[in-house]
Amino acid sequence: MRLIFLGAPGSGKGTLGEMVSRATGFPRVSTGDLLRKAVREGAPVGRKAEAIMKAGGLVDDATVTELVRDRIAAPDCLGGYILDGYPRTIAQARAVEAIDPVRPEIVLDLAVGEETIVNRLSGRRVCPACGAVFHVTGMPPKTAGVCDVCGGELVQRPDDAPSTVRERLRVYREATAPLEDYYRGKSTYRAVDGEGYAEDVYARIAAVMAGEGHPL
Ligand code: AMP
Repeated sequence: MRLIFLGAPGSGKGTLGEMVSRATGFPRVSTGDLLRKAVREGAPVGRKAEAIMKAGGLVDDATVTELVRDRIAAPDCLGGYILDGYPRTIAQARAVEAIDPVRPEIVLDLAVGEETIVNRLSGRRVCPACGAVFHVTGMPPKTAGVCDVCGGELVQRPDDAPSTVRERLRVYREATAPLEDYYRGKSTYRAVDGEGYAEDVYARIAAVMAGEGHPL
């Protein structure tokens, strides 16, 4: 099974992808996380991607596709995997279909309004040490500024700054929204209301998955 989470920045792809990953045992493959790791480690891909990410642009299709190709070839992806933040262009969608053509696929498109997106991104806080994600009001850590999981200091992602958020939303509308039309034409496309608490969105996803014969 290949489960693809579509949706704007801040639509909940990471949070819901992680919850579904825990339920299914399928690893969550996030190109954003893979790129941030490459930046932290000073890898060549990271050096190329850092400025683009900070400006809210898209890293080129070949680079991100290479990251995905390597990651989904790992043994833990054999039974299935969850894509979060990839594909972001039609070319990337075609690339993953070419890399792994026979896998059944379900596309979950998280629909959220612009106000929700801005609120979620501006309040998002992440732990650079372990990757855990919080929200100052919606999903606050037990102690403000401190990671519940590992005790690390929480920070705002550099690309969650308001000026970069505007650019990411523009890029999303321009490059990624056409991808929704691409998937909407397929029988495996499911739009899911992404508003509200993560638990409620998860319940909607679980209902979709049950309907597809894949109860979580
Ligand atoms: P995310 O964590 O998914 O919001 O991704 C953070 C940033 O990484 C994006 O704003 C892009 O700059 C870059 N990125 C992540 N995934 C992709 C992708 N599939 N294609 C191009 N750039 C990506």
